[in-house]
Amino acid sequence: MEAKEQVLEMRGAFETEFGRFVDLNPDGQSLTDAEALLREVDALKVRHTGKKSALAESKKLIGKVSPEERGEFGQLVQTVEKDIVSQIDAVEAKLGEYISNARTELDRLDVTLPGRRPRVGHLHPITILRQKIEDIFVSIGYSIEDDREIETDYYNFDALNIPEGHPARESQDTFYTTEGFALRSQTSTVQIRAMERRGVPIRIIAPGKVFRRDTPDMTHVPMFHQIEGLCVDKGITMAHLKGTVTEWLKRLFGEDTVTRFRPSYFPFTEPSAEFDFSCFKCHGTGQFDSARCRPCKGSGWIELGGSGMVHPNVLKAVSVDPQVYSGFAFGFGLERMAALMYSIDDIRHMFDNDVRFLEQFR
Ligand SMILES: [Zn+2]
Repeated sequence: MEAKEQVLEMRGAFETEFGRFVDLNPDGQSLTDAEALLREVDALKVRHTGKKSALAESKKLIGKVSPEERGEFGQLVQTVEKDIVSQIDAVEAKLGEYISNARTELDRLDVTLPGRRPRVGHLHPITILRQKIEDIFVSIGYSIEDDREIETDYYNFDALNIPEGHPARESQDTFYTTEGFALRSQTSTVQIRAMERRGVPIRIIAPGKVFRRDTPDMTHVPMFHQIEGLCVDKGITMAHLKGTVTEWLKRLFGEDTVTRFRPSYFPFTEPSAEFDFSCFKCHGTGQFDSARCRPCKGSGWIELGGSGMVHPNVLKAVSVDPQVYSGFAFGFGLERMAALMYSIDDIRHMFDNDVRFLEQFR
């Protein structure tokens, strides 16, 4: 029977061509190779089961064979078709699943991409120094006070014993708003507010921004940072002031640090003194690497800040009896200190926000 032979021949041709896919195991194939194989199987499917395939031809023959043979022949064509289609479907499914998994894996982790390194920030040199000093004072029983930067005349001047017309108003000239407020020209304002709020005895330091009407140059900027210290209790003397200032400077710069106090004048303290400490670089010798030491300019001393015993008028302004209580206060600028410690020749660099400068203080 001619038609039957034609069908068997067709099946033989398919099996020859499809043989290499029968036991296909895609594991270990690259995604590109697996995709190429799937395209081959698709092409093969069109060729063997499509409209112009030998299979389609065989189906047309069913109507042409004699009625007695038709049943058997039809059965044969169906069986062969089922066999071909199921074999192709099985391989297609296997490859399809493998490709889908491989794509998911690739999306999840592409090891060929360079990693994204997070950009880690760091603190500003002024913040680093401020935190070191805060840690020292907290460890000796002081608390840290913060307060407003915009003040009234009363807190910035009057309460600090700087009445209208006082010459100190000139040197502490600041910025004013049209409503009569002033940007504080020293952190001493926090002393007043803290004593009003908490009363005495009190031990605080107040780090913060202050403002002066200065034209910027290498050593002046209109906004800078101060740290103010205040201790008020019964029986506080100048000895406590000297001991406290010496102790925190030793903790910051080393056990061999010594301090000296020079008589001075400030409206809010009486008596008043400026304080210096032995140079952290040359340890007071004035020489470093057999040359004149730079931070102390060869003197062996670094001038740091002002201090003194809190003026009775300041205590009275916050209703503290100066006959019962006494206290000391001191203050200094952070920029100048940081400039000396880090050998920065121009303090304006600290506010330029130039990353090349700031990155040196990680
Ligand atoms: Zn020195």
